[in-house]
Amino acid sequence: MSELLSNFCGGRWQAGCGSGTKLVDPVLGEELVRVDSAGLDLASGFAFAREKGGRALRALTFGERAAMLTAAGKVLQANRDAYYEIAVANSGTVKSDSAVDIDGGLFTLGTYARLGATLGNRRFLLDGDSARLGKDPLFQSQHVLVPARGVALLINAFNFPSWGLWEKAAPALLSGVPVIVKPATSTAWLAQRMVKDVVDANVLAPGSLSIICGSSAGLLDPLQPFDLVAFTGSAETAAVIRSHPAVTRRSVRANVEADSINSALLMPGEAPGSLAFELLVKEVVREMTVKSGQKCTAIRRIFVPEALYERASEAIGAQLADVTVGNPRSEGVRMGALVSRTQLAAVRKGLALLQEQAQVLHDGAAHELVDADPAVACCVGPTLLGVRDPDAADRVHETEVFGPVATLLPYRDLAHALALVRRGQGSLVASLYGSDAAELAETALALADSHGRVHVVSPDVAQQQTGHGNVMPQSLHGGPGRAGGGEELGGPRALNFYHRRSAVQASTAVLANLQSSTA
Ligand code: NAP
Repeated sequence: MSELLSNFCGGRWQAGCGSGTKLVDPVLGEELVRVDSAGLDLASGFAFAREKGGRALRALTFGERAAMLTAAGKVLQANRDAYYEIAVANSGTVKSDSAVDIDGGLFTLGTYARLGATLGNRRFLLDGDSARLGKDPLFQSQHVLVPARGVALLINAFNFPSWGLWEKAAPALLSGVPVIVKPATSTAWLAQRMVKDVVDANVLAPGSLSIICGSSAGLLDPLQPFDLVAFTGSAETAAVIRSHPAVTRRSVRANVEADSINSALLMPGEAPGSLAFELLVKEVVREMTVKSGQKCTAIRRIFVPEALYERASEAIGAQLADVTVGNPRSEGVRMGALVSRTQLAAVRKGLALLQEQAQVLHDGAAHELVDADPAVACCVGPTLLGVRDPDAADRVHETEVFGPVATLLPYRDLAHALALVRRGQGSLVASLYGSDAAELAETALALADSHGRVHVVSPDVAQQQTGHGNVMPQSLHGGPGRAGGGEELGGPRALNFYHRRSAVQASTAVLANLQSSTA
């Protein structure tokens, strides 16, 4: 039997009392390790984090918490090679895809460490200026943000075991809130190993970081009114979390990042072969293939002017044909595996559903797998679908196939394109490709209400743009409607979720003390 990974709960490493769930290599089909959370005393584990971890973190200043994050980052850097080995074995990703998760997580952690250092020796934040409440300025109101006196339960999706962990944990810990991490079972190994390295290095305040791997049964039950839950995953699980009594009756604050039918839009008037056209093609191919399309931000719908439909299909198809798929350990393989047989089956099912309304423009099945047995490996080639009548193809606007699949859609004019983009019902990101700065700005604003991020690619930023699907810690991550309605990252904005806002109404003298206080 493989190793059973421990949970860090209540300040000690504890094994579950069940036989555990196997984590499997998605390319070779071999069992790697097991995880199990059966029998853990979750209520006392949550209480330990809330009381011991919370007290210790709130005693520190932002600067001291930032130093803690820096120290954790150093520990993780020192063990980076081991994380790459786990990623290739458990997620089946090629090195550059593992980097998106591992180095993306470290970069985000480092960004919040640097941000925290600029907040210095304070322990709370002022929110705006004081406001007079009457004619006389003597009595005023000042909003303050203080750390939530609870624990943050961080529930993550399978596709980003590292980045998902640190993009949530870094703002929480910097805010002075202890965290309990629940990674998705299928890829929990990397998150468990990272937490183990940091805990064993003893660089964090005691009680501030815990991890529970395995079943989520009963996980939300110990949540108390001042606790928080930050969730990333499917809309179905999000609905379960939203309707849990902790959220509905105890007002536990919940942030949800769910699935999203993201768009890429080539602006009207761009000629085939123009730089904007080429940039769209390149970005679409990258988004379809990075992490085998298992990115919540990946491009799912590609909108081009009607007259460019064939040209776009040919250009994207030609680049997809060069993508080698198979064992990520083999030389020259560019795209590794999906994470599990379950995901492979889900991608095939979603593809079949879309194909009832769309035609295949580039067939992923035509890609021969390199050094991988199709009967075992969860590998699948990239498929480009196309739809001539985008108004009638409702499934394309509603179905997220979480794999290397995207659909090309023609539009008549910009108003038509924007109406079609909005049929995604709220997305994490839309990207625009064009060269008219005024028109790009206007279009970005027109999409801003329904997208957490609008990524504008014009020829002048061709080399510098950070990529449609890359989540930068400086920018907001999240999206309205179907995307879950949540907000993460966005520089200092991420701290808001982990703080409570209160209005202090007092005399000018009291407020002056508060404004100069570092308490
Ligand atoms: P999932 O099945 O919803 O699982 C997400 C997490 O929730 C896992 O840790 C899972 O644990 C846990 N969970 C399941 N049932 C639960 C319950 N009743 N109570 C508490 N936790 C529970 O999603 P997934 O398959 O891992 O991820 C794929 C989806 O995530 C895609 O739809 C993708 O679009 C979305 N996603 C969104 C973002 C974003 O930032 N918006 C980022 C990445 C992925 P177990 O694994 O143990 O079941």
